[in-house]
Amino acid sequence: MKTLENKVALITGSSQGIGRAIALKLASQGAKIALNDIAPQEENLKIVQAQIKNAGGEAKYFMADVSKYDEVEKMMQSVQQEFGRLDILVNNAGITKDRTLAKMTVEEWQKVIDINLTSVFNCSKTALPLLIQSQGNIISLSSFSGLRGNFGQTNYTAAKAGIVGFTKTLSKELGKFGVRVNAVAPGFIESKMTEAMPEEMKVVVKKLTSLGRTGKPEEVANVIAFLAGPDASFVTGDIINIDGGLAI
Ligand code: NDP
Repeated sequence: MKTLENKVALITGSSQGIGRAIALKLASQGAKIALNDIAPQEENLKIVQAQIKNAGGEAKYFMADVSKYDEVEKMMQSVQQEFGRLDILVNNAGITKDRTLAKMTVEEWQKVIDINLTSVFNCSKTALPLLIQSQGNIISLSSFSGLRGNFGQTNYTAAKAGIVGFTKTLSKELGKFGVRVNAVAPGFIESKMTEAMPEEMKVVVKKLTSLGRTGKPEEVANVIAFLAGPDASFVTGDIINIDGGLAI
């Protein structure tokens, strides 16, 4: 049985990587998909849209820089016009600009905070009326490193830890409306974001991971499909590790 029939899901940063896997998974569960990314990723968005359509699903894409409130507001209006509703918001878009604090520039700090954390404020706030109407839910991508810290990532870990606090607080504010708010904390997942990591670091991460391997975007998408759907109806304010045991 498809668990997300008649639902509409917006996934930010969904032209590739984990976001794309989430879009494909939610579509396979019957959801209509609103894809999002920034202009340089338009061709990739078209490919994901075609993949969903070829599999019998429905998808449209909306270009917006999620760190900019006015662009997000317009995107949300377009989603409402095109689909008439929104049930699931997945705050997935994110970047890294790693450097020790001693060397980090103000721009590197600000950009990472804006795209990873302010985007979650922008999207969640503008989606609120629609989500309250549909008794929908929000799922944001935190990270293992946001919970535990990671060398060279003061900007990224501050943003990802911020998502944890945001998620817990918003779940308290929206519980009375029947809107659930959760986050996931993936460990090392194979994507463009992690492929640049030095080989010796990957070896160390695998060693520290109980399952002895890195994760696939689809393994994150499976947990998000669960959180987004009716089987997670009593789950809110939670942060679920998807890390093969790395956090242990
Ligand atoms: P990717 O870099 O593969 O995908 C992220 C997507 O977001 C890219 O298409 C990127 O475009 C897009 N994006 C960047 N800036 C914006 C913006 N301002 N507005 C809209 N879209 C934007 O990353 P992953 O798939 O690996 O990561 C997805 C999420 O999961 C991120 O939040 C990440 O922090 C989190 N995560 C990832 C882990 C991993 O091991 N991969 C582990 C834990 C958490 P462009 O490429 O042009 O920048």
